Amino acid sequence: MRQPACVQVLSNIPNVTERPRLMEIRLTNTYAREKQVFEPSDPDRVTMYVCGPTVYSYAHIGNARPPVVFDVLYRLLRAKFGADHVVYAVNFTDVDDKIIDASQETGEPISTITQRYEQIYREDMAALGNLEPTFRPRATEHIGDMIALMEDLAAKGHAYQGESGLWFHVPSMETYGRLSKRNRDDMIAGARVEVGADKKDPADFALWKAAKDGEPDAAKWDSPFGVGRPGWAIECSAMAKAKLGETIDIHGGGQDLIFPHHENEIAQSECAHGGKPFARYWLHNGFLSMDSEKMSKSLGNVKLVHQLLEKWPGEVLRMALLSAHYRGPLDWTDALLEQSRATLDRLYNALRRMSDVVVEDVEPPAGLVAALCDDLNTPQALAELSRLATEANKAKDADKPRLKGELLAGGALMGLLQQDPDQWARGDDSDAARIDALVAERIAARKAKDFAKADQIRNDLAAEGVEIMDGPQGSTWRKV
Ligand SMILES: [Zn+2]
Repeated sequence: MRQPACVQVLSNIPNVTERPRLMEIRLTNTYAREKQVFEPSDPDRVTMYVCGPTVYSYAHIGNARPPVVFDVLYRLLRAKFGADHVVYAVNFTDVDDKIIDASQETGEPISTITQRYEQIYREDMAALGNLEPTFRPRATEHIGDMIALMEDLAAKGHAYQGESGLWFHVPSMETYGRLSKRNRDDMIAGARVEVGADKKDPADFALWKAAKDGEPDAAKWDSPFGVGRPGWAIECSAMAKAKLGETIDIHGGGQDLIFPHHENEIAQSECAHGGKPFARYWLHNGFLSMDSEKMSKSLGNVKLVHQLLEKWPGEVLRMALLSAHYRGPLDWTDALLEQSRATLDRLYNALRRMSDVVVEDVEPPAGLVAALCDDLNTPQALAELSRLATEANKAKDADKPRLKGELLAGGALMGLLQQDPDQWARGDDSDAARIDALVAERIAARKAKDFAKADQIRNDLAAEGVEIMDGPQGSTWRKV
């Protein structure tokens, strides 16, 4: 029997064998600009690709929105189709102009830079509670796949050689622009359309960029189109094909990638594969702003995931990222973070009050599942969790196993509430170690009958919101 996703996460809950009875999933397909029922080509192998980071610096919190949003979709798909029947790929772009620039500025080898930031990215994403995708392909490991794709495009008359590399000829594809619904003038005016004296058409884009003098060997490969490196979009087309196949069910990413990046991925893949659809459902998340302003280096308001994690638990950041519907904008503020922490405190407190309740059988609550199946309505799903917590706080003992089970299973579907509630109440580990040490010092003081010192420690901890509880097994503490 297939196992729902929550089984793996909720290892502490026994006897969960039934697949949740999930309703149909409806997703807003950017192609249609409306919600459509999601039907995979093959329910035994549901495929999803999301454009990953270029690994030359830290990810900012805006970069973290797609991985968290699409992780919730990944969990939902696993619950519906079975954990072994969903294949999810997120790439690493580890060859790029920005990486070369970083290497030339610092003198560090390219691989040192990309390995370092890949590792940091993996740690940041794990701290945000994301499951590890099935595949994390690196661009540099798929250069051969990219060359094969380009040879196909050249043979079919969609690509031509220029002095600065190999170009995709946009007028060779009649349906180019279908995703972004841009007309030709808009496309040519598009800010990221590349300049090139050897282009036949202003809308043409680079598949392969000829190496320039002085560029490091680590960013150069031999190819039938000369020594050079791939353009960004061909990387995604080739990695999606290598890991998932010629047609994928869902392709996700930020709205800012619709044009030209995703439009170019479609052009390359569909022209190389004789018009076969590249992605059947395109999902795009909205922008993240910072205190109502655009996040930008020039405004100095860029918040890195890494920095935020020093101050906030990853689960608070995740809750904040899921507090708005993924398609809409999200305004990142301290108030949002405080609010998210307060909500999690409330949910974990409800679980803590039920710590002795044994959960025997569990399905995610219907209201929460319905919300997620309706185009990933995470604000509604979070409201369902809060409603369950309120109900649990007032519930009779007989109802508690169900309510606890629903809170945990619903939380698992969103990547939330999987920590020990006592651990959550105690706060982060470094703080916990300090408080543990003070509590031990107080016990020693009491043994030595130094009650003034013992009381002083208790009062100091109380002043910072830590309550010591003396019991027959010794002293424990919690944050209040
Ligand atoms: Zn991409």
